Amino acid sequence: MSVTVERRTRLRVEGTVQGVGFRPYVYRLAGELGLAGFVLNDSRGVLIEVEGDDALVDRFVVRLRDEAPPLAVIDRVLGEEREPIGHTGFQIVESPSGGVAGAAVTPDTATCGDCLRELLDPDDRRHRYPFINCTNCGPRFTIVRRVPYDRPSTTMAGFRMCARCQAEYDDPEDRRFHAQPNACPDCGPSLTLLRADGSPERPGGGPLAAAVEALLAGRIVAVKGVGGYHLACLANDLGAVAKLRSRKHREDKPFALMVASAEAAADLVLLGPHEREMLERPERPIVLAPRLPSAAVAPAVAPGAAELGVMLPYSPLHHLLAADAEAPLVMTSGNVSDEPICYRDEDALRRLAGIADLLLVHDRPIHTRTDDSVVRIVDADRDRPLMLRRSRGFVPASVRLPGGAPRPILACGAEQKNTFCLAKDDRAWIGHHVGDLENYETLRSFIDGIEHFQHLFAVTPELVAHDLHPEYLSTKYALERDGVETIGVQHHHAHLAAALAEHDELGEAVGAIFDGTGYGDDGTIWGGELLVGDCAGYRRAGHLLAVRMPGGAQAVRQPWRMACAWLDAAGEHEPPPALASVVDGRTWEQVRGLSGSDLGSLQTTSMGRLFDGVAAMCGVRAEVTYEGQAAIELEAMADPAERTAFPVDLESGPHGLVIDPRETILAASADLAAGVGVPAVSGRFHNAIARATVEACARVAAAQDLDRVVLAGGVFQNRRLIESVAIGLAHAGLRVVTPERLPINDGGISYGQAAVVARRMAAG
Ligand code: ZN
Ligand code: ZN
Ligand code: FE
Repeated sequence: MSVTVERRTRLRVEGTVQGVGFRPYVYRLAGELGLAGFVLNDSRGVLIEVEGDDALVDRFVVRLRDEAPPLAVIDRVLGEEREPIGHTGFQIVESPSGGVAGAAVTPDTATCGDCLRELLDPDDRRHRYPFINCTNCGPRFTIVRRVPYDRPSTTMAGFRMCARCQAEYDDPEDRRFHAQPNACPDCGPSLTLLRADGSPERPGGGPLAAAVEALLAGRIVAVKGVGGYHLACLANDLGAVAKLRSRKHREDKPFALMVASAEAAADLVLLGPHEREMLERPERPIVLAPRLPSAAVAPAVAPGAAELGVMLPYSPLHHLLAADAEAPLVMTSGNVSDEPICYRDEDALRRLAGIADLLLVHDRPIHTRTDDSVVRIVDADRDRPLMLRRSRGFVPASVRLPGGAPRPILACGAEQKNTFCLAKDDRAWIGHHVGDLENYETLRSFIDGIEHFQHLFAVTPELVAHDLHPEYLSTKYALERDGVETIGVQHHHAHLAAALAEHDELGEAVGAIFDGTGYGDDGTIWGGELLVGDCAGYRRAGHLLAVRMPGGAQAVRQPWRMACAWLDAAGEHEPPPALASVVDGRTWEQVRGLSGSDLGSLQTTSMGRLFDGVAAMCGVRAEVTYEGQAAIELEAMADPAERTAFPVDLESGPHGLVIDPRETILAASADLAAGVGVPAVSGRFHNAIARATVEACARVAAAQDLDRVVLAGGVFQNRRLIESVAIGLAHAGLRVVTPERLPINDGGISYGQAAVVARRMAAG
């Protein structure tokens, strides 16, 4: 075959184009069009040269983008004409050595359609093989030990490919060309079923069938997945769910569910088109959606919650489990109460033996723990995804850092729901969800994670950002790092900056930043803040009225203390009826004494604590087992049809507008005393805070001549609140900006810190 050599073009492709089957795709496309040349991976992405007929080169350029592999994300393609050199044939050229860090490690991805078909095909050699994968799907980030990303650098290093797998791996025409975790039943990982004492159970029908049988018999099975262990049981088995809850200890946190298909999910939750789309994304997050009254799951799955968290199978093992069990499964993190999820086998055996009856394990090690990601869709008309936890499936994909980092940055994040962030040039890599930095294990995971990311993405931080809170372990870590410049970033400013940077908004905006706790620049605890600012700087434009937090941290665990503080501030000294039976008169008086004094009580403007206090007044919950629980249950009880609102005062104070809810507290108290039901009181309270927030933001925006409002902070995880505030602001002609790809809670703080440092340094 002779090709008329008329033209040679060099194409530089940037984006997520490595480890996603891009080179074989280019090879096949060039082959199909009869073009000569080469393709290779380098430190910037993929470099291609094609040579051949002018019109065919044109067609190649158009199709290159349009037909790219499913996991590829092309940011841009730069073209350059070269002299034709009479090249024949097309080659995949090996990468220049050591040059690929920063581009090659992609997130773990759900089993693709092609692999799923093989999994279920009785004639396929991988029929029902729980570790099937290809270039378009399978484990990635969780199995990578180091870069460059090739098989010896992964936890698959110990498995030697059989001849057939190796042939697939070597064939550019094959779907498994350079698929690093490629495996089959002859050469790859396999399942084992263990008893709680660690001894192997060798059932006749195999480990999977025996595990399913155990689940159907109401037993609890620990299942080793992609980023860690799950604890599984039948979701509609009251006894099994109750047993799991009691064995996990004092946990009230909702359990996530896994169902075989979106259709099965629609039997449990109200599934709009956006929720369905989110559920089916290759990242496969847990999607929180309103629970249907007809949902056939045990009440103990999500006590007191209006929503259920559902996800679809994302590994072949999950597909087989879900299909064989033919019922929704609880799939909750394999841990005891607040500990991090188990991911190492010995550790899982030790920690989960008291919870699980059996363990379904395998011999492909997990290198980095990643929890399931959690998303909720709010403001359904506008389809606003609200990321609650960004981890497995999304990490380590980079997010743009507008303006770029003048020097490499490490941002250490906050204390709760911690993530860290590394940034270089205009890219930021936000780490997996570490969790609450309050014990050795999470701190270890934080430190190891930072080191791992530094290697994976070849970032040596010179600037290190941290929270202003001196007691956060993340702050201490930052200040102990040698040879770097450290920069403190105010917590709520970081929330504001994260939302702005994610949306590439460089101008000033108003921010309503509501959360539980954040160290203010005056040394008090902030959390109901109106800010005006951009990524570089901010000023306080208002805040929730400050009250005392009687007993400090105790007031977080015991919301009744916040009820006491708020009632006292409003001039009511008696406990409300709902608390009179829970707290004795003397204790109430002591705590009320603390509310009025400087002793043992910090000042706080926290919106989260106000919600806690109102929840306690309503008798929803006097004590909590996890932060935010009282507020979540208060929201769940609110009457969606309630249209009236309690009054709220807005006044001027030395730090701007003061949102003063004392009248709100008195009105709620009067309603409760008059026997008005909690659903109405909760609805009126939500409406009151929403209206006051809209009014306050509109006033600040008008005074500053701004048209954008950022809503961020953990309190805005509240669906009812964020939806009504967003609608109110839109009616007032204001543009609403919320974090979407990064968590709206403290999981987004690290990226915000990086954005602040980058802009401040750029500004000099
Ligand atoms: Zn696949
Ligand atoms: Zn094989
Ligand atoms: Fe926060």
